[in-house]
Amino acid sequence: MLEVENLRSAYGRIEVLKGVSLEVRAGEVVALVGANGAGKTTLLRALSGVQPMTGGEIRFKGQRIDRLPPHQRVELGITQSPEGRQVFGPLTVEDNLRLGAYRRRDKDIEQDRDRVFAMFPILAEKRHLLAGGLSGGQQQMLAIGRALMGRPKLLLLDEPSLGLSPLLVDQILDAIVSLRKDGITVLLVEQNASAALAIADRGYVLETGKVAYSGTGSSLLSDPQVKAAYLGIE
Ligand code: ATP
Repeated sequence: MLEVENLRSAYGRIEVLKGVSLEVRAGEVVALVGANGAGKTTLLRALSGVQPMTGGEIRFKGQRIDRLPPHQRVELGITQSPEGRQVFGPLTVEDNLRLGAYRRRDKDIEQDRDRVFAMFPILAEKRHLLAGGLSGGQQQMLAIGRALMGRPKLLLLDEPSLGLSPLLVDQILDAIVSLRKDGITVLLVEQNASAALAIADRGYVLETGKVAYSGTGSSLLSDPQVKAAYLGIE
């Protein structure tokens, strides 16, 4: 579904992505892990089209997309849920979800909203409250829910578990796994490498702008070098 080949990107003269190649197949959950500053966020932003590339190719369903502006990539079905719970604080939970469906003209919007509520029941309870008053975890759920309202084919998730309690991390990761059943493909960036690899079909470890390791989630979890360097397990 998504093929990234030799992608390069820089901030000014500092090259941050130094030729990254990876692929995400339809229906997979793929985890992208690595230390702080390895370039994970930059890679997602390059895929969305908000971060300029200095080289390489991105193909989505066989079509080159690296020269398309961000909104055209969204139209093709690529949606990013950004790091840091960027919900619209002064709007209600329900209005935030409605905004996620702003491009749609079909009649299933309410049905999809109910699916988001089924996935995150706390959002249903708080549907009439302002998003700004939600806890961090609830805002994260809302950000994911809003992205889902656009019916993405490929969902790019940046650090969905950032700052959450272990219980909420599990709840968010369970929700991500359940997306797979709905045919949504997910590229998941996570600081929480063990948890992400445990739910992922496959994973990539990014190290200073390059893919250092790749494989199935379980093979990376049991790789001694990956364990020592990234998972905090001896
Ligand atoms: P984190 O988990 O901390 O977000 P990351 O793997 O997502 O890390 P990036 O945020 O992509 O890493 O950052 C990669 C490198 O690019 C870092 O060295 C960072 O300092 C640098 N960088 C990020 N954003 C900018 C920017 N706007 N201008 C200059 N340098 C930047």
